Amino acid sequence: MTEMLSSSFGLTHTTIQQCLELRHELHLNPSLSFEEKPTVDRIVSFLQAGGVSADQLHRLVGGCGLLAVFGTKKTESPSICFRADIDALPINEMAGIPWASTVPNVSHKCGHDGHTAIMCAVALTLVQHPPQHGQVILCFQPSEERGEGAKLMRSDPGWDPLVGSAPIYGLHNIPGAPLAAVLTRRGVFASASRGLNIRLEGRVAHAATPEKGCSPVLAMTGIIHALLGLPSMSLAFGNACKVTVVHAALGTPDAFGTSPASAVVQATLRTHSNEDMVHLTAQVAHLLPSVPTVHVDSTVMPIMAIRIGSGLAAAHGVTMTHSIVDDFPAQVNDPKGVELVERAARAAGLSTEELATPFAWSEDFSNYPRGTFFGLGAGPTCPPLHDLQYDFPDELIAHGARVFLGILQQQQQQQQQPV
Ligand SMILES: [Zn+2]
Ligand SMILES: [Zn+2]
Repeated sequence: MTEMLSSSFGLTHTTIQQCLELRHELHLNPSLSFEEKPTVDRIVSFLQAGGVSADQLHRLVGGCGLLAVFGTKKTESPSICFRADIDALPINEMAGIPWASTVPNVSHKCGHDGHTAIMCAVALTLVQHPPQHGQVILCFQPSEERGEGAKLMRSDPGWDPLVGSAPIYGLHNIPGAPLAAVLTRRGVFASASRGLNIRLEGRVAHAATPEKGCSPVLAMTGIIHALLGLPSMSLAFGNACKVTVVHAALGTPDAFGTSPASAVVQATLRTHSNEDMVHLTAQVAHLLPSVPTVHVDSTVMPIMAIRIGSGLAAAHGVTMTHSIVDDFPAQVNDPKGVELVERAARAAGLSTEELATPFAWSEDFSNYPRGTFFGLGAGPTCPPLHDLQYDFPDELIAHGARVFLGILQQQQQQQQQPV
């Protein structure tokens, strides 16, 4: 018989305390997306001090990524993967806490330090209680905030031999939700989003004779009006959609003698489903040809390129290029995976809540196939994610680790059943 873990899933107070201290240490020394090497160095040394051997650790997956592997690979026993994001944000720490960031303009304002500590608690527990069936892969993923980390991990040659088609589970702490409540949703859990970059180029002139140049000011304001009008058409999308203008700039500040030549508009498109995102993108493409455009960037999406290419604004003399960046698909949960999460949460003594509607934010976890994502309540008084005062609640380290270990227990029991 397989030795089953106890109701605490083998998680000890010593492990929880060590991981809490690690969380504070990571908070003191945050790393931005694509610059996580020091964070991964610290995770590796922490895991090795906790008994994880060097041959269980696989670095440089996805640039700064790390995979920690437990158990033995067996064809009849499928693997399972748990993922934590590890990057911080370009936000100056304002929270008055003893472990406040020591790096100017960088801080853990999304709680990825806590997610990392949770995964380290799972790792140390697996050192004491290795999986009896198949492998458990713990994924420490970089660059979530830039939407690139999951894609980088998956496309790394080191990924497939270790993770293959294993189901992947991940969590995010959710300020406002009851502390340690496990939030689930079958189907779409978190929204799709895309960044839209629009650049306009005209011709510079003296401010006294703007008619001799070609200012993009009208094109710029036309684009902003057109984009902001899209949400009022949300009924056409079946579900909510949002267009947020995140940045706009024209010419150079204080250049009172110059009629400007260039402008930029950046907006985030957001929908509840991937289908609605296709629809919204088509609506954007439909609107943009009505503003001055003559040039198509080779990086734009084909559907937009076709429409914009038909623009007839050459007479306006302003060229427009645009591109899609930060493309996050919607996170669509597998119902069987959600079932497993809910059973694990109940086994860990936590309440569960199935969300009526998807979250409006996006997660690059959605780039993993067979992924199931869930929320862990950070309490009603916790400031929002990315807020200056936000700090990850330490109590969640033990709760989060128990949910992952509970998922593993459920999966191991399922594999044991035919025997
Ligand atoms: Zn974030
Ligand atoms: Zn986050």
